[in-house]
Amino acid sequence: MRKYYNLMEALVESCFDDLKPMMDCCTCDQCRNDIIAYALNQLRPKYVSSDKGEIYTKMNAFLTNQPTTDIITAIMSGVNVVRGHERHGQNEKKEQEQ
Ligand SMILES: [Zn+2]
Repeated sequence: MRKYYNLMEALVESCFDDLKPMMDCCTCDQCRNDIIAYALNQLRPKYVSSDKGEIYTKMNAFLTNQPTTDIITAIMSGVNVVRGHERHGQNEKKEQEQ
């Protein structure tokens, strides 16, 4: 059983979904994962050890102290990196090459 979580993961995911309508970038699953992974690398992880039920309480408490502008900035720089270099549709090709 998993006993520790990176709150930042959930925050970036929900922030991504909020920003999605404003993104001039592909947001398919592959690109979404690429952007979120990029953003998470820019941000300090925020690990908590707790039961899953407590996570949302901790997340809300954390959010009131953490300016979401940091998260938005990280996501937008992820968009800039992924845009024009989308990897979607390459999986089939890769599998054939291997
Ligand atoms: Zn895509």
